[in-house]
Amino acid sequence: MMADETTLADLARAVGAARTIAVLTGSGLSAASGVPTFRDAQTGLWAHYRPEELANPEAFERDPTTVWQWYRARRQTLAEIVANDGHRALADLANELPDVRLITQNVDGLHQQAGHSNVIEFHGNIRVNQCHNEGREVEVDDAVDTPPACPHCGGLVRPGVVWFGEAIDPQAIERATQAAQACDVFLSVGTSAEVHPAAGLADLARRNGAHIAEINPDATPLSDRVTWIVRDSAARVLPELRRLSHNQHA
Ligand SMILES: [Zn+2]
Repeated sequence: MMADETTLADLARAVGAARTIAVLTGSGLSAASGVPTFRDAQTGLWAHYRPEELANPEAFERDPTTVWQWYRARRQTLAEIVANDGHRALADLANELPDVRLITQNVDGLHQQAGHSNVIEFHGNIRVNQCHNEGREVEVDDAVDTPPACPHCGGLVRPGVVWFGEAIDPQAIERATQAAQACDVFLSVGTSAEVHPAAGLADLARRNGAHIAEINPDATPLSDRVTWIVRDSAARVLPELRRLSHNQHA
């Protein structure tokens, strides 16, 4: 199914004319690169764990080695995965347009790999290491079977993701809130718009006068409140959107 061309052309005009654009991306964008979803990652010897059992601070404190090795396996999978045309189109748009603010719920770091700097990472980044005691980012050799020691305090090192039961970085919330309030156009890309607080950003943008576009193959709870709906894969739609908005400037 290709997007309705009139809808996409109309959206491209709005994107090209916007002073500020906010973009929220979710797992649908990375799925096109082959990043397994949380649930699909449970293969092989991890198949008998539910992800919620591993991705929480109590599990790490009880059995740090198991949790560390699960993330090590996921990092190894990610090492073979590359950003797709959708990630690249967003990075290009950010370079070409005056003010694009990107918020992602993904932890895979593929926006940065596509050349996007200054990403607001709502759920952290699986490629980063942090001290479980201090919360600060640390540089360690992570190609090891047990959690390394923090070079500053000796505490256990863990992946820099936000686990179940943990708070999202207040700075990320602050920046995302500002982006939603400032934007003229808000793009909801490859996300089911169900997980809060990220899910509330589009409505915040709408209350502040922005128009919302949903780029997602399936309907979501947001669908009845958006100006543009493009029911297709973000990896296909975003390059086309970028091309159309670019031509308009040329
Ligand atoms: Zn430490």
